[in-house]
Amino acid sequence: MTETLAVPAALELGRPWRHGFAELGPAFFTELRPTPLADAHLVSVNAALARELGLDPARIAGPEGVEAFTGNIALQGSRPLAGVYSGHQFGVWAGQLGDGRAILLGGIETPAGVQELQLKGAGRTPYSRMGDGRAVLRSSIREYLCSEAIHGLGIPTTRALVVTGSPQPVRREEIETAAVVTRVAPSFIRFGHFEHFSARGMEAELRQLADYVIDRFYPECRGTDQFGGNPYACLLERVSERTAAMVAQWQAAGFCHGVMNTDNMSILGLTIDYGPFQFLDAFVPNHVCNHSDETGRYAYNRQPNVAYWNLFCLGQALLPLIADQELALAALEPYKTVFPRELEARMRAKLGLGDEQPGDRELVERILQLLAADRVDYPVFWRRLSHFVGGADIAPVRDLFLDRTGFDGWVAQYESRLSASRTGAASAMLRTNPKFVLRNHLCELAIRQAKLGDFSGVEELLSLVQAPFDEHPAHEDKAGFPPDWAQHIEISCSS
Ligand code: AMP
Ligand code: MG
Repeated sequence: MTETLAVPAALELGRPWRHGFAELGPAFFTELRPTPLADAHLVSVNAALARELGLDPARIAGPEGVEAFTGNIALQGSRPLAGVYSGHQFGVWAGQLGDGRAILLGGIETPAGVQELQLKGAGRTPYSRMGDGRAVLRSSIREYLCSEAIHGLGIPTTRALVVTGSPQPVRREEIETAAVVTRVAPSFIRFGHFEHFSARGMEAELRQLADYVIDRFYPECRGTDQFGGNPYACLLERVSERTAAMVAQWQAAGFCHGVMNTDNMSILGLTIDYGPFQFLDAFVPNHVCNHSDETGRYAYNRQPNVAYWNLFCLGQALLPLIADQELALAALEPYKTVFPRELEARMRAKLGLGDEQPGDRELVERILQLLAADRVDYPVFWRRLSHFVGGADIAPVRDLFLDRTGFDGWVAQYESRLSASRTGAASAMLRTNPKFVLRNHLCELAIRQAKLGDFSGVEELLSLVQAPFDEHPAHEDKAGFPPDWAQHIEISCSS
């Protein structure tokens, strides 16, 4: 007689649900169930995040947890749905998109406020278009690790709670296997949600959505005396500021998002939708990490302008509510000051410069020129520089450059600028310039192992990127230069 595991029909998470998004009504989504995946198994659970949310990681990793977070059984009290949105992809209006493979379960009350849970890769939805509704193990591991790496660097992002896998085949460039990643964020609303209702002339829904976002996330825009008291212009301004601050952090960290379409831009200024992302190895300003991005629209050094372009689309979408073009343009204006200000502050921090002094901008620009000219490894440079400021020899930093004269000239200027504040600077720099960066090749190695059923590489990388400034002496091999083969890794939109 074969014994079957008795799996209950639903898992009780033990936290009250809040279905704010679902309460918006059926114009915004379609209610549906995830499509089950056979023989689900755990890939990794993010225990640190589980605890932050007041959840028990062991329960998530247990048999019922695996079934629930794969979408095979319900989470008691959840209200699964797929949302509708539209967007501009690669600069072109793409019309309706929507959650083609992500299913929102609703929000739960946590010690970190209400957090929504979303299963990515949980099956087809009315918005799947030609897609299969699935995510492959490879891309799910990349999203899981990178959202935690971005969080570990202090950059706003959606998070990832757990990845489960299944032997079910999924066709991409080759046959791979299915996985589901559970994403966590206060909201998954994108610029594209607003574009959707605006493009269709659904002004009542547009207003309802904007009011929902303002009341929940930007309450300061109610009763504002800015913009003649227009809360929607205030919303646009606040989103512009948050987006500016986020992109400044990306640039300082050497992070390339890869697909900055307007449907991949969070209304909360969170990094969202990890696909063909990459942390820079060599500092190549026009680096394009997405193999499908033939024109280099989303190159590293174009990200700040693209973000502004995207905000402009959001502004256009909000125009029926703002009702005054001049006001909308004024609400976008702060991007132009917040972005450079935030970037300069982040770059000064990387240099260990606490205060702002004349000449700092030139100091930053000059080192970036030198790094670019010699294609110096970006993370290694900053970490070595931090150690130099802490008293180590200059040689390991100097050795990174071919243009030694140029570098020596820069260091002389830098040292005189640092002057008295050097000791404090070094420890601050070591908390700003990570030792461990989720480089493409590290992900790739963990994925190869995972495809063979060994998830220890994923666990190891998770613990490193969650504490990227710590030394982790057993993992020196993951702190250095990428191997030559890393240059040939090709990551495309296909995931
Ligand atoms: P992305 O480029 O990943 O942001 O996806 C763009 C759009 O395509 C979104 O509407 C996704 O939900 C949808 N999509 C991507 N991959 C799939 C898939 N395998 N099945 C269904 N929809 C998908
Ligand atoms: Mg997307």
